[in-house]
Amino acid sequence: MLHPHAEVVICGAGIAGIAAAYHLAVKQGVRNVVLVDERAPMTLTSDKSTEAYRNWWPGPDDAMLRFMNRSIDLLEQLDTETDHRLRLNRRGYLYVTGEPAHVPALVASAKQAARLGAGALRVHAGSPHDPVYVPGAAEDWRDQPDGADLFLDPALIRRHFPYLNPDSLAALHARRCGWFSGQQLGMVMLEQAKAAGVRFLAGRIAEVDTRGGCMRAVRVATANGDELIETSRFINAAGPLVNDVGRLLGLDLPIFSELHLKLAFEDRRGVIPRDAPLVIWEDAQHLPWSAEERAALAESEATRDLLEVFPGGVHFRPEGGHSAQTVLLLWAYHLAPISPVFPVPIDPEFPEIVLRGTATLVPGLAAYLEKLPKSYVDGGYYTKTRENRPLLGPLPVEGAYILAALSGYGLMAACAGGELMAAHITGAALPEYAPAFLLSRYDDPAYQQQLATWGSTGQL
Ligand SMILES: Cc1cc2nc3c(=O)[nH]c(=O)nc-3n(C[C@H](O)[C@H](O)[C@H](O)COP(=O)(O)OP(=O)(O)OC[C@H]3O[C@@H](n4cnc5c(N)ncnc54)[C@H](O)[C@@H]3O)c2cc1C
Repeated sequence: MLHPHAEVVICGAGIAGIAAAYHLAVKQGVRNVVLVDERAPMTLTSDKSTEAYRNWWPGPDDAMLRFMNRSIDLLEQLDTETDHRLRLNRRGYLYVTGEPAHVPALVASAKQAARLGAGALRVHAGSPHDPVYVPGAAEDWRDQPDGADLFLDPALIRRHFPYLNPDSLAALHARRCGWFSGQQLGMVMLEQAKAAGVRFLAGRIAEVDTRGGCMRAVRVATANGDELIETSRFINAAGPLVNDVGRLLGLDLPIFSELHLKLAFEDRRGVIPRDAPLVIWEDAQHLPWSAEERAALAESEATRDLLEVFPGGVHFRPEGGHSAQTVLLLWAYHLAPISPVFPVPIDPEFPEIVLRGTATLVPGLAAYLEKLPKSYVDGGYYTKTRENRPLLGPLPVEGAYILAALSGYGLMAACAGGELMAAHITGAALPEYAPAFLLSRYDDPAYQQQLATWGSTGQL
């Protein structure tokens, strides 16, 4: 019996699969690409994102930084081509610390990122010879500085960011960073991919035929029964389910998932300026409780952990224009690897914990602690490799590829990730960062050894 044939079948219509389809069909002219998803496009993880981006990747080498610089180049091109439909801005990420011991690490990471290619570092130490600080434009990315502004004078931090904790000692404003509409990015690429002939098929990849060690066919379970598609090229872009699909190929992938939640609330008091950047408190902290609250929490086993130290990394950004009031708050304080389940489990204490934690960074938010404002929580999984770099390239089964483990940076990496995936498939020239993302990097004993000396390359 003759079965339909596809040049490439992509499993997953999150941002990764859509970007691969777009680059294959629109940019490389590959015909007969089938994009398969059991859900509506962009609805599992890709619509839960904070939609932020950064070229701020201080090491340990320049692979991630170059990859993201390329991705941001492509994002800027697409924003221009679509008349600013992506709403791309460049407000920056502001990393803040009130911990004297942390200041040297912030300075060192700033110097390293500048050395690796993130752009010039401008140090503001309160001296008359300081360079000029150019505040970010709220809604656009054009004509904005790149590199970073490092504030080492608390009085300057108070002047430029008066809403922050007055004990802030150092603040690093990384500039080729900001946010955009991830949903629009997905829709723009999907519309163009479909116009270039990509077929979207609603269904689940239930089986993969790899007889003889190479890709032959996939079986898709659809509402109208099974569809068998013959193909010699298959991309696993299944997001947090990438290991389930990997097992259909007979592979066990070196990835794990963390749960990350996000709170959206209405800042009716206008505590956070609408043109603020994305702001991150670097320091670990004890949540600010009153003495009575502390005593009450200490009494019960169930609440005692709320008195423990919480990790650094609580962050926020305003969402929407000047007339909106929404603010997004995030804090991944439970980083233990977990098996993804859907719908994601929502910690009922998350709104209170993240609001308290952010009140350390922005004391004005404490006004909301008496009565928590109306809020909405969602979230998803960061699916990661040990060193927080993607898996992007061929798999050990001939004709099978992976575009996954995009952790907390899948939206910002999508454009360069899709481009690199398409280059692997069509045989186009590969950029110099390509080897850093291959699964086969783990076969190299020297790489394994090097890994032991690397810390995580960042959570946000
Ligand atoms: C709270 C939070 C905040 C984040 N913030 C940011 C941010 O600010 N910036 C940023 O760049 N990134 C951010 N991320 C990360 C980003 O959202 C992810 O990296 C990205 O969405 C992953 O995209 P994906 O396409 O790989 O996965 P997904 O969006 O999960 O898509 C995978 C798709 O595969 C489909 N699928 C799986 N198995 C099968 C199968 N067998 N058959 C058919 N279909 C299948 C699923 O239905 C799903 O639609 C954040 C993530 C979270 C959770």
